Amino acid sequence: MTYVDAHIHLSDPRYAGQTEAIVEEGRKAGVGRILSNSVDYPNSVATISLAERHRGTVLPAIGVHPWTVVDTTTKPDVSQFERLIENERKSIAAIGEIGLDWHYTQDEEKKIAQKELFQAFLTLAEKNGLPVVIHSRLAIDDVLETLTSFSIAGVLLHWYSGPVEKLSSILERGYLISIGPSVLYSKKTIEIARHSDLGIMLSETDGPVQYYGPFKSRVTGPSFIPEVVGKLAEIKHVDVETIRDTIWQNFARFLGSNKMDVSRPQA
Ligand SMILES: [Zn+2]
Repeated sequence: MTYVDAHIHLSDPRYAGQTEAIVEEGRKAGVGRILSNSVDYPNSVATISLAERHRGTVLPAIGVHPWTVVDTTTKPDVSQFERLIENERKSIAAIGEIGLDWHYTQDEEKKIAQKELFQAFLTLAEKNGLPVVIHSRLAIDDVLETLTSFSIAGVLLHWYSGPVEKLSSILERGYLISIGPSVLYSKKTIEIARHSDLGIMLSETDGPVQYYGPFKSRVTGPSFIPEVVGKLAEIKHVDVETIRDTIWQNFARFLGSNKMDVSRPQA
């Protein structure tokens, strides 16, 4: 079994010209599965073709990030995504990154626009049996509340930042959380890891986001994952292999076993 980077944005323009090297570096570090997320429609199309070039290692997630809802007049066209799924269903692993963000959005009208978009994508995920990768910054209550109206195949709350008290209900609902490089230096992330059941944990980088601590001035990529998992092992008092293999199994559960089989790496 190999390491997993359950959340990154390989088709982000900041990675232009570096993607091949970044995936390869990750592979050399033992990262055999990378779920690459998208932020809008052109980016989703780019993610699908990038995954095609790295078939078996990179899995594409398509969607619209809540940050793209800058005003209520420019509504993303969800029907484009419907058609994309119709044409590419076999190669699409998940819907993401979607969700709600109240950190940057206080305006009530924009909040409504984000909620409508989130619901539209959850409907799409439910209809097509696809798992979802969710951004929930300062909006976890609304995210959890919205999810109760849907029956979704797999739910990943990426970069879950609390509160710790919600972890038991996340576990009960069968959702997953992903923990990233900040676990090496952020007290808050360490606290989340300490209180999380192993069965809900995934590792992520959210690249090209930049990190501090041992990652300062390094280009973020899947090659960070062994360090993240090493730290998780230390926090959870288990060996690295146990965490790595549990994360692999959690990831397989999130995607559904059929999709893991389709994308088995070519040895
Ligand atoms: Zn992200």
